[in-house]
Amino acid sequence: MIVESQKQLADALSREKLPAGDYYMKVLKAGQTLRIVDSEGNQAADVLFYSVADPTVRYSAMDTIREQGNVFLTAGSTLMTNECDPMLEIVADTCGRHDTLGGACATESNTVRYDLEKRTMHACRDSWMKAVAENEEFGMTKRDITHNINFFMNVPVTEEGGLTFADGISAPGKYVELEAKMDVIVLISNCPQLNNPCNAYNPTPVELIIWD
Ligand SMILES: [Zn+2]
Repeated sequence: MIVESQKQLADALSREKLPAGDYYMKVLKAGQTLRIVDSEGNQAADVLFYSVADPTVRYSAMDTIREQGNVFLTAGSTLMTNECDPMLEIVADTCGRHDTLGGACATESNTVRYDLEKRTMHACRDSWMKAVAENEEFGMTKRDITHNINFFMNVPVTEEGGLTFADGISAPGKYVELEAKMDVIVLISNCPQLNNPCNAYNPTPVELIIWD
Protein backbone atom coordinates (compact mmCIF):
# COMPACT_ATOMS: atom_id res chain seq x y z
CA MET A 1 0.00 0.00 0.00
CA ILE A 2 1.44 3.35 -1.04
CA VAL A 3 1.22 5.99 1.70
CA GLU A 4 3.24 9.18 1.40
CA SER A 5 4.67 10.82 4.50
CA GLN A 6 3.61 14.26 5.68
CA LYS A 7 6.93 14.80 7.45
CA GLN A 8 9.21 17.65 6.38
CA LEU A 9 12.97 17.20 5.98
CA ALA A 10 13.51 20.58 7.64
CA ASP A 11 12.03 19.18 10.88
CA ALA A 12 14.26 16.09 10.96
CA LEU A 13 16.37 15.39 14.04
CA SER A 14 19.13 13.67 12.07
CA ARG A 15 20.04 12.55 8.55
CA GLU A 16 22.84 10.21 7.57
CA LYS A 17 23.94 8.15 4.62
CA LEU A 18 24.76 4.47 5.09
CA PRO A 19 27.06 3.17 2.33
CA ALA A 20 26.48 -0.32 0.91
CA GLY A 21 28.35 -2.90 2.98
CA ASP A 22 28.20 -0.82 6.17
CA TYR A 23 26.06 -1.29 9.26
CA TYR A 24 23.96 1.03 11.43
CA MET A 25 23.27 0.23 15.08
CA LYS A 26 21.52 2.91 17.14
CA VAL A 27 18.54 3.44 19.44
CA LEU A 28 15.21 4.73 18.12
CA LYS A 29 13.12 6.01 21.03
CA ALA A 30 9.40 5.32 21.46
CA GLY A 31 7.46 7.89 19.44
CA GLN A 32 10.35 8.66 17.09
CA THR A 33 10.07 7.91 13.37
CA LEU A 34 12.79 6.44 11.16
CA ARG A 35 12.69 6.83 7.39
CA ILE A 36 14.89 4.55 5.27
CA VAL A 37 15.41 5.98 1.79
CA ASP A 38 16.41 3.79 -1.16
CA SER A 39 18.57 6.64 -2.48
CA GLU A 40 19.56 5.20 -5.86
CA GLY A 41 16.93 2.45 -6.22
CA ASN A 42 16.90 -1.37 -6.08
CA GLN A 43 18.91 -1.59 -2.86
CA ALA A 44 18.14 -4.00 0.01
CA ALA A 45 18.33 -2.87 3.64
CA ASP A 46 18.50 -5.94 5.91
CA VAL A 47 17.11 -4.90 9.27
CA LEU A 48 16.70 -6.34 12.77
CA PHE A 49 14.99 -4.70 15.77
CA TYR A 50 15.48 -5.35 19.50
CA SER A 51 13.95 -3.94 22.67
CA VAL A 52 16.43 -1.64 24.42
CA ALA A 53 15.09 -2.81 27.80
CA ASP A 54 15.73 -6.48 26.96
CA PRO A 55 17.39 -7.39 23.64
CA THR A 56 16.05 -10.97 23.92
CA VAL A 57 12.74 -9.29 23.02
CA ARG A 58 13.11 -8.76 19.28
CA TYR A 59 11.36 -8.45 15.95
CA SER A 60 9.56 -11.66 15.06
CA ALA A 61 8.68 -12.39 11.44
CA MET A 62 6.41 -15.27 12.49
CA ASP A 63 4.34 -13.25 14.96
CA THR A 64 4.13 -10.30 12.55
CA ILE A 65 2.98 -12.43 9.59
CA ARG A 66 0.45 -14.37 11.67
CA GLU A 67 -1.05 -11.28 13.33
CA GLN A 68 -1.50 -9.35 10.05
CA GLY A 69 -2.38 -12.40 7.89
CA ASN A 70 0.02 -11.25 5.15
CA VAL A 71 3.55 -12.37 4.29
CA PHE A 72 4.54 -8.95 2.89
CA LEU A 73 5.15 -5.76 4.87
CA THR A 74 3.89 -2.31 3.88
CA ALA A 75 2.15 0.78 5.31
CA GLY A 76 -0.22 -0.33 8.06
CA SER A 77 1.92 -3.32 9.06
CA THR A 78 2.64 -3.56 12.76
CA LEU A 79 5.98 -5.23 13.47
CA MET A 80 5.55 -7.56 16.44
CA THR A 81 8.01 -8.86 19.02
CA ASN A 82 8.56 -12.52 19.84
CA GLU A 83 6.28 -11.82 22.82
CA CYS A 84 3.61 -10.64 20.37
CA ASP A 85 3.70 -6.99 21.43
CA PRO A 86 3.67 -4.11 18.88
CA MET A 87 7.24 -2.91 18.33
CA LEU A 88 7.04 -0.54 15.37
CA GLU A 89 4.43 0.46 12.81
CA ILE A 90 5.07 1.18 9.14
CA VAL A 91 3.41 4.58 8.82
CA ALA A 92 4.48 5.51 5.28
CA ASP A 93 5.72 3.53 2.30
CA THR A 94 6.30 4.64 -1.30
CA CYS A 95 7.76 1.29 -2.42
CA GLY A 96 4.67 -0.78 -1.54
CA ARG A 97 6.05 -4.13 -0.45
CA HIS A 98 8.93 -5.46 1.65
CA ASP A 99 10.15 -8.98 2.32
CA THR A 100 10.52 -10.73 5.66
CA LEU A 101 10.76 -14.35 4.41
CA GLY A 102 13.98 -14.41 2.36
CA GLY A 103 16.44 -13.93 5.21
CA ALA A 104 19.78 -12.15 5.01
CA CYS A 105 22.75 -13.10 2.90
CA ALA A 106 25.55 -15.02 4.62
CA THR A 107 28.83 -16.42 3.34
CA GLU A 108 27.44 -19.92 3.92
CA SER A 109 24.27 -19.35 1.88
CA ASN A 110 26.32 -17.63 -0.84
CA THR A 111 28.37 -20.82 -1.30
CA VAL A 112 25.24 -23.00 -1.41
CA ARG A 113 23.30 -20.73 -3.75
CA TYR A 114 26.05 -19.50 -6.06
CA ASP A 115 29.57 -20.93 -5.88
CA LEU A 116 32.17 -22.18 -3.40
CA GLU A 117 34.36 -19.26 -4.46
CA LYS A 118 31.78 -16.86 -2.98
CA ARG A 119 32.81 -17.94 0.54
CA THR A 120 34.99 -14.86 1.03
CA MET A 121 32.49 -12.29 -0.29
CA HIS A 122 31.10 -9.78 2.18
CA ALA A 123 27.56 -10.62 3.36
CA CYS A 124 24.91 -9.03 5.60
CA ARG A 125 25.47 -11.51 8.41
CA ASP A 126 29.13 -10.37 8.60
CA SER A 127 28.04 -6.74 8.93
CA TRP A 128 25.66 -7.63 11.79
CA MET A 129 28.35 -9.69 13.59
CA LYS A 130 30.74 -6.74 13.28
CA ALA A 131 28.06 -4.37 14.61
CA VAL A 132 27.36 -6.58 17.62
CA ALA A 133 31.11 -6.94 18.34
CA GLU A 134 31.82 -3.19 18.02
CA ASN A 135 28.83 -2.09 20.14
CA GLU A 136 29.24 -4.07 23.36
CA GLU A 137 27.06 -1.59 25.28
CA PHE A 138 23.96 -3.31 23.89
CA GLY A 139 25.01 -6.60 25.51
CA MET A 140 24.32 -8.66 22.39
CA THR A 141 26.18 -11.55 20.76
CA LYS A 142 25.86 -13.40 17.47
CA ARG A 143 23.22 -15.59 19.18
CA ASP A 144 20.89 -12.57 19.00
CA ILE A 145 21.01 -12.42 15.20
CA THR A 146 17.70 -13.86 13.99
CA HIS A 147 15.25 -13.54 11.13
CA ASN A 148 15.02 -10.09 9.62
CA ILE A 149 13.24 -7.70 7.30
CA ASN A 150 14.59 -6.98 3.81
CA PHE A 151 13.30 -3.49 3.09
CA PHE A 152 12.93 -2.74 -0.65
CA MET A 153 13.63 -6.37 -1.57
CA ASN A 154 11.26 -8.17 -3.92
CA VAL A 155 10.84 -11.83 -2.94
CA PRO A 156 7.63 -13.10 -4.54
CA VAL A 157 6.02 -16.30 -3.28
CA THR A 158 5.40 -18.69 -6.17
CA GLU A 159 2.17 -20.67 -6.67
CA GLU A 160 4.01 -23.77 -5.47
CA GLY A 161 4.88 -21.96 -2.24
CA GLY A 162 8.53 -21.31 -3.09
CA LEU A 163 10.49 -18.07 -2.95
CA THR A 164 12.28 -16.27 -5.77
CA PHE A 165 14.67 -13.32 -5.56
CA ALA A 166 13.29 -11.10 -8.28
CA ASP A 167 14.31 -7.79 -9.75
CA GLY A 168 13.33 -4.93 -7.45
CA ILE A 169 10.10 -2.96 -7.49
CA SER A 170 11.74 -0.06 -5.69
CA ALA A 171 13.24 2.98 -7.42
CA PRO A 172 15.47 5.97 -6.60
CA GLY A 173 14.08 8.02 -3.71
CA LYS A 174 11.47 5.49 -2.57
CA TYR A 175 11.22 5.17 1.19
CA VAL A 176 9.65 3.38 4.11
CA GLU A 177 8.88 5.05 7.44
CA LEU A 178 8.59 3.35 10.82
CA GLU A 179 7.25 4.72 14.09
CA ALA A 180 8.66 3.11 17.23
CA LYS A 181 6.14 1.86 19.81
CA MET A 182 8.91 1.12 22.33
CA ASP A 183 12.61 2.06 22.63
CA VAL A 184 14.27 -0.13 19.99
CA ILE A 185 17.78 -0.92 18.84
CA VAL A 186 17.85 -0.60 15.05
CA LEU A 187 20.42 -2.86 13.40
CA ILE A 188 20.78 -2.41 9.64
CA SER A 189 23.09 -4.07 7.15
CA ASN A 190 23.03 -2.20 3.88
CA CYS A 191 23.38 -5.29 1.70
CA PRO A 192 26.65 -5.80 -0.24
CA GLN A 193 25.24 -8.78 -2.22
CA LEU A 194 26.51 -9.07 -5.82
CA ASN A 195 25.08 -12.47 -6.83
CA ASN A 196 21.34 -11.85 -7.06
CA PRO A 197 19.20 -8.96 -8.30
CA CYS A 198 18.13 -7.81 -4.79
CA ASN A 199 20.22 -4.69 -5.35
CA ALA A 200 20.50 -4.75 -9.14
CA TYR A 201 24.09 -6.15 -8.85
CA ASN A 202 25.12 -2.66 -7.84
CA PRO A 203 24.97 -1.99 -4.07
CA THR A 204 24.22 1.66 -3.33
CA PRO A 205 23.77 3.83 -0.18
CA VAL A 206 20.57 4.27 1.79
CA GLU A 207 19.71 7.39 3.78
CA LEU A 208 18.41 7.26 7.36
CA ILE A 209 16.30 10.15 8.61
CA ILE A 210 14.85 10.46 12.14
CA TRP A 211 12.08 12.69 13.47
CA ASP A 212 11.06 13.24 17.09
ZN1 LIG B 1 22.64 -9.04 2.15
